[in-house]
Amino acid sequence: MEGRILKISSWILMITVVFSAVVLGQFTMIHRREMKREQMSGLQMLAYYTSQAEETGDVSFRHQLRLELPEGMKAEDIVIENDYVSQNIMIEIPGVEKDYFVEHPLLGRSNHINDLYMEHGRIEITMDAVYEPQIKVQKGIMYLDFVRPQAVYDKVVVIDAGHGGKAPGAIKQGIMEKDINLAIVQELKALLDENDQNIGIYYTRTEDVNPTFVQRAQLGGKTGANLFISVHSNSTVDGQMSKYSGTEVMYDELKGEEGLSSKHLAQICLEEATAAMGSKSNGVTHGNNIFIIRNSEVPAALIEVGFMTNQEELSKLTSKDYQKKAAQGIYNAILRALEEGY
Ligand SMILES: [Zn+2]
Repeated sequence: MEGRILKISSWILMITVVFSAVVLGQFTMIHRREMKREQMSGLQMLAYYTSQAEETGDVSFRHQLRLELPEGMKAEDIVIENDYVSQNIMIEIPGVEKDYFVEHPLLGRSNHINDLYMEHGRIEITMDAVYEPQIKVQKGIMYLDFVRPQAVYDKVVVIDAGHGGKAPGAIKQGIMEKDINLAIVQELKALLDENDQNIGIYYTRTEDVNPTFVQRAQLGGKTGANLFISVHSNSTVDGQMSKYSGTEVMYDELKGEEGLSSKHLAQICLEEATAAMGSKSNGVTHGNNIFIIRNSEVPAALIEVGFMTNQEELSKLTSKDYQKKAAQGIYNAILRALEEGY
């Protein structure tokens, strides 16, 4: 008798356990599915909708994103911004509703997307390196490809105007180094914009902003550049005005000096810059203690155009004429280096 009661109660217990496990399990599954969409990151949503689309259709998505566009939208209506210094690509699809991406999910796969953010008509993609986004619209679908700079350009060059924004660099008689460096780079950009060779130029800045040292230093590697040139203006160690003047170029002395090395690039920059400006040559010097030189993955040279602590050179450095000469010198150095095989 006791044995029977025990048997029945253990059956009841087992049924209760199984029943509650099933109910509870289903409940958490439903719950989890509901939470999913809201909690999913952009990347998770992309993967989720893409594998769903691959399961239901016979399509496969590789190294390309695609999105169904609102009716009548053309490629030129879409705004693309490529902030290559941070490797962020922004895509604006004007006039779409809040839940557009839920009804028309972004589909595709790429191993090179680090992060993805979608909101209203805005897609923000963080890439693992610098890519040129290429958009094509066919039958109401936007296809987005990410192309390496080397697929677009024959040669790639990174140019860095030293300091910027809240980092003025040296200040002499109210003149800030960041402004001289930027003025020279803007003159250089004017020359390079006119050049008809297929050279891709990536600037760490073209305005008064201050990218981090890491962003500056990595841009050579992230673009796969052939060379990296940084533009600075010099000061004496104690910062006092002095007779000391001239141009010098720094390179990483701990990297190899054979062939198309940073040292040889520095030598080219020195020769071309001093020739164009008529400035005194102070030679090429060690620069391994400088972050952007030490951390550059591509041949790098840092030009100290002239001394802000020399009265005569300071007034030259602030004149448009001399800034143009400096730019011409760097321009000649870039073309010569590329011709030599960098
Ligand atoms: Zn500087």
